Amino acid sequence: MAKNAAIVSVSTSYASSNQKAPAKMDFANDNAFNHYSDRTWEDTALVYNYVNEMIDDIHYQGSLILFAGNTGNPGGRTSDEVGRLVRSAGGGTAPGGAGGGAPGGAAGQGPGGPSGGAAPGGMPGGMPGTPAMTDDEILADAKGYENKGYDVYQLRSTSLEVAKKVRDATNLILLARYNGGANVDLFTAKPVPSQPTDAELEKAVEQARKLEGVVDILWIRVDEHPNAWSQDKGRPKALAYAEAIKKAGIKIITCPSGGFHNPLENDEFIASGKTDMVGMTAPFFADPELVRKLKEGRADDVVPCLGCQICHGISMINPPWYATCTVNPTWGLPPYQLKGFTKPAISKKVAVIGGGPAGMKAALIAAERGHKVTMYEKDATLGGLLKISDESKWRWNYKDLKEFFIHQVNKAGINVKLNTAATPETIKAAKYDAVMVATGSDLAESEWKTDGVKVFSILDAYFKKDKLGKNVVIIGAGKFGMELAAGMLKDGHKVTVIASAQGLLAPETLSHDMEKPEAIYRSSSDFSSVLGAKVKDISEGKVTYTDSKGEEKSVQADSIVIWPGLRPRMDEAQKFIGSADDVLFLGGCTGTNGTVQKTIRSAFFVASQV
Ligand SMILES: Cc1cc2nc3c(=O)[nH]c(=O)nc-3n(C[C@H](O)[C@H](O)[C@H](O)COP(=O)(O)OP(=O)(O)OC[C@H]3O[C@@H](n4cnc5c(N)ncnc54)[C@H](O)[C@@H]3O)c2cc1C
Ligand code: SF4
Repeated sequence: MAKNAAIVSVSTSYASSNQKAPAKMDFANDNAFNHYSDRTWEDTALVYNYVNEMIDDIHYQGSLILFAGNTGNPGGRTSDEVGRLVRSAGGGTAPGGAGGGAPGGAAGQGPGGPSGGAAPGGMPGGMPGTPAMTDDEILADAKGYENKGYDVYQLRSTSLEVAKKVRDATNLILLARYNGGANVDLFTAKPVPSQPTDAELEKAVEQARKLEGVVDILWIRVDEHPNAWSQDKGRPKALAYAEAIKKAGIKIITCPSGGFHNPLENDEFIASGKTDMVGMTAPFFADPELVRKLKEGRADDVVPCLGCQICHGISMINPPWYATCTVNPTWGLPPYQLKGFTKPAISKKVAVIGGGPAGMKAALIAAERGHKVTMYEKDATLGGLLKISDESKWRWNYKDLKEFFIHQVNKAGINVKLNTAATPETIKAAKYDAVMVATGSDLAESEWKTDGVKVFSILDAYFKKDKLGKNVVIIGAGKFGMELAAGMLKDGHKVTVIASAQGLLAPETLSHDMEKPEAIYRSSSDFSSVLGAKVKDISEGKVTYTDSKGEEKSVQADSIVIWPGLRPRMDEAQKFIGSADDVLFLGGCTGTNGTVQKTIRSAFFVASQV
């Protein structure tokens, strides 16, 4: 294989074999968690042609093509034990392991099989709903993909026997998967340490040694959907496994994946010999121009992927599941829609009011479209509410995004006026052709007043965190409240959440992203919560409330944090109507864009009209 070769994974089906998605999803019975494959690319001429054209194009561009069968045979994606025949009648499971493992196939709804036992060492079984394949089927499958033009085949079994058969019968480059475990234990829902133990590394080395000479590439997957809650900045967990295998002198190409989002760090990992390759997926959603930018020496222009997993579904429970990305608002948009955003023929004088994520993204798009842009920010620095990420080491992904935007705004030559609150009068006087209003939100009013001594706002809980003391009560839950709670627990606080809601998180926020903070607070003995409660009084660090049964209770704390939700600055924003011919509203101030994803998407659609 050539040095610097790229391998592009062209997966033509998500699950293996021929399980069809039902016409209607049955959420009550959890089949939303199954991974279906309709195999339509084989069945439908247009799709078949498209995939073949793609295979040719990738070859023309000098890359190899991988068939990623990871979601196929349960054994192919799951085991941390090489050579053990992992096969079941169905249901995505590995047969009876030594216990202590995670469930074989979580939903176990593949055709025909019981859910089997557990793979040893805590490895999950196959993807829910994925059926198994025999040796002969695997061999035929491998040959089939070789005939279609694939170069690399991911083994669909951990059996060395099958690997050797495929090796002898084809010229395919063989890839096997080593599974080092998820970052949230599936049984206990406890967070798993962000780096492997010595015993885990020794086991990986032992398994890799068995594959030497049989398999070419060892794909090492450790973290399930890592993000800043589970991953140390600059040290993806799978790297440690690759490093250990390299240090042991095993002749196999290592390819760790999961959290390898930063191209400069990846470069260092390879250049310093820690690994031969790295695997990346989500960063290409975040920035489809990633490769071109790197080739042109523009790593600073690569949009950072947050690892936020919105591309994996905004919510795991509630529809819709349309494909989107927090940082790339065009991802998932059909080409016909993108064609509608052609560059304007004239350059306009444009104002952007507010330097939060919405304002910065809108300013960048307007500058790209050839306009002369001035941005007003009333604070001393850009970033808006994203600035809380400076104050928590568990939010380094959002901090990376904020820094990226600020760098890009400066690089694009946008005229930034800091410490300058825009008013309708100043904007009108400057005679802009178009004004984009991105004034964001304030904290909503609460009947409980903050004093910065014992009672703090959620923003103070970040910016004045040193004043909080050990024992903290947070009044209010939801995604942002619970992320604060998780961060505080990680920082060593004792946290009680009191909320009027019946649940800590709304179903629409239950993404893969939230699994990690959830695991932190659910497994912590320093965490407690009171739901369905009504706070009656706060004084001298004591919160008095009635619980869901109407009983009056109280809790004493070193500090109390109030999280009342956000109040869009809609009224202030609307005052800018009439300050130019074209006045447009975007981001948090509109009241409908309460997350960074929605904020950036709204910025894209609005700025693309100017
Ligand atoms: C505690 C907390 C945690 C959060 N966590 C997450 C999270 O984990 N994930 C997520 O997706 N979202 C999160 N959010 C929400 C996210 O921060 C917002 O959706 C996003 O910042 C909105 O962006 P924006 O640019 O519209 O507004 P803002 O970020 O509010 O920025 C508005 C900017 O406009 C400036 N401004 C206002 N008026 C004027 C004026 N007249 N002249 C000049 N400047 C002005 C303000 O100073 C500010 O800088 C969180 C919010 C909070 C409060
Ligand atoms: S949605 Fe989040 S994790 Fe997915 S590509 Fe975009 S930034 Fe990365």
